[in-house]
Amino acid sequence: MGNHLTQKLNPGLYFVATPIGSARDITLRALDILASADVIAAEDTRSMKRLLEIHGVPLGDRPVLSYHDHSGEKSRAKLVAHIAAGRSVAYASEAGTPLIADPGYHLSRAVSEEGYLVTSAPGPSAIVTALSLAGLPTDAFFFAGFLPNTRKARQTALAAVADVPGTLVFYESPKRIGAMLADSCTVLGGGRNAAVARELTKKFEEVRRGTLDMLVEDVAARPPKGEIVVLIERNQIKEASAEDIEAALADALQTLSVRDAAAEVAETLGGHKRKIYQMALKLKDTRE
Ligand code: SAM
Repeated sequence: MGNHLTQKLNPGLYFVATPIGSARDITLRALDILASADVIAAEDTRSMKRLLEIHGVPLGDRPVLSYHDHSGEKSRAKLVAHIAAGRSVAYASEAGTPLIADPGYHLSRAVSEEGYLVTSAPGPSAIVTALSLAGLPTDAFFFAGFLPNTRKARQTALAAVADVPGTLVFYESPKRIGAMLADSCTVLGGGRNAAVARELTKKFEEVRRGTLDMLVEDVAARPPKGEIVVLIERNQIKEASAEDIEAALADALQTLSVRDAAAEVAETLGGHKRKIYQMALKLKDTRE
């Protein structure tokens, strides 16, 4: 007998978060919903059945339907039809919170657009677990999911989040962690504090903390295995104000050409090169 209650659920879609490692991290309410839903849908039907078994939740004659967002319109329509017929549908992804780097988004849209209930039994997610352990600020954070696989696309994606005013959170695979950290050093600078959190809530849970430079070396020496979250602190370099840039340009223009003055100021104060060049041009014009 499991640790759950059965009840009649209102018709609708119930997103159920499942453990990211330790099976006992499931919530009691998640078990209640899994025990009570008329229909169970899962990204991975085998892990769903295993989870029900571990927690002693009887499946009875209820169906466990396979669903991921690529399943397409037809399987979504099937789940919506169950709800339209007055049934409750519980949906879980393979691990953690549905929709978080996992399927569920298109299903959620389809059900809510038809005007039916969409609700959730919240629970584990690797993002929040990693944030609580990384030792980096959590007042604001940006989840960037998985970065692209190729170097060029990865560097472009990193450049796009370089100045986000919050801790950056990425999901990563052990195969690419070395390349990802190296690209992060190139694009974001090796001095930023960061953390590599792996196998959270599992036997080999580990959090490595240090600057990006340090972590590149550490990961090369001891490649981490398993599931990984990378967290990187926000850009700490304060952008120079327009007044600072103008004063530095005025100074540099006394001895340098517009192009060289702009390059020197951009190098020393940072900032947008093209904008600084245009400021230098304008300054030169007003002085002539
Ligand atoms: N929906 C899940 C969630 O809420 O966290 C994420 C699913 S996503 C397909 C799987 C990725 O999440 C893994 O490749 C890894 O980057 C991260 N992840 C999941 N479980 C983890 C764990 N126990 N420790 C560290 N990272 C984990």
